[in-house]
Amino acid sequence: MPTVSKATFNNKNSFFFDALKKKIDHYFSENKIKQSGNLKLYYKAIILVTTLVALYVVLVFFTPQNDYISLALCFLLGINFAAIGFNLMHDGGHGSFSSKPWVNKMMAHSLELMGGSSFMWNLKHNQNHHTFTNIEGMDDDIDIKPFIRVSQDQPKKWYHRFQHIYSSFLYALTYILWVFWLDYRKYFSGKIGEIKIKKMSLKDQIIFWGSKVIYLILFLVIPILKVGLWDTLIGYTLAAMVTGFVISVVFQLAHIVEGAYFPEITEDTPLLKIETEWAIHQLRSTANFATKNKFVSWFIGGLNYQVEHHLFPKVCHIHYPKINKIVQETCKEHNITYLEFPTVFSAYKSHLTHLKQVGRAA
Ligand SMILES: [Zn+2]
Repeated sequence: MPTVSKATFNNKNSFFFDALKKKIDHYFSENKIKQSGNLKLYYKAIILVTTLVALYVVLVFFTPQNDYISLALCFLLGINFAAIGFNLMHDGGHGSFSSKPWVNKMMAHSLELMGGSSFMWNLKHNQNHHTFTNIEGMDDDIDIKPFIRVSQDQPKKWYHRFQHIYSSFLYALTYILWVFWLDYRKYFSGKIGEIKIKKMSLKDQIIFWGSKVIYLILFLVIPILKVGLWDTLIGYTLAAMVTGFVISVVFQLAHIVEGAYFPEITEDTPLLKIETEWAIHQLRSTANFATKNKFVSWFIGGLNYQVEHHLFPKVCHIHYPKINKIVQETCKEHNITYLEFPTVFSAYKSHLTHLKQVGRAA
């Protein structure tokens, strides 16, 4: 199968993004608001960190006698992890959580607390995924090979015809794979997808290895010493599966749905030339969902406004509902498709339909 080693956009005439950016800048300057987070976000961060610490302390040091209560708390711990990822780590990683760089750095490093590597994530997410969305070989987020085929340019296996049935079970394993395998694969291969990783400094190396060890001590060694091996393994696996499922689904609903664009890759296109400007490519390969649902928006850190996030990743998610209207209006003016699903359920259904189609296509 051919893969792309370089992709370019037709940014010489970025008429759409120029017009949109002007309006967005005007919105912020007219209302005299910063593009970074505000008090609402800081309160959310305090709530999420406090609940995480409370859940951990209760589960490890004051373990409930009733196993069902413990399991329910582990379930909540998994949800809490995902929420910290969406709200603190993701915005911090994009530099949009606060106007102070050190606060963003601290938030981005919450990923280390969850067993990941912000060094790897930064390359995978900010460079690969945000620039080369849905481009095979360049966007590591669509690489779930060989288990799931998300576009027709990926190799087909016989079992892909059932992928719409088994995918949801696999999603639950993504976080465990991420923490215990994928970061190491990137580290030792020196590559993310087809793209080479920049050299790690000594500080990067210390953070990478140090945080992996601290994570193991915090979430496996101490719990094993306090509550025993099997209880820890069951509780940890449940929490990790909930986190994995939630983060995978949020990603999938934003890019792997019916109508989302995957550029066609042919034998002679190691260099892929995308005909449109970058911003239009983002609009074609990204979808919003459940934007009217306030709880969803709160919990997943505005990632249901994925279109706005991809166009303005440096704007904090707290502002997406407002700028959503400007984006929609500008798309209409320029006759550009804007993908949106009204509910989480409809987006999930569309995701499964897409997987079913691709799993059976030649
Ligand atoms: Zn992002």
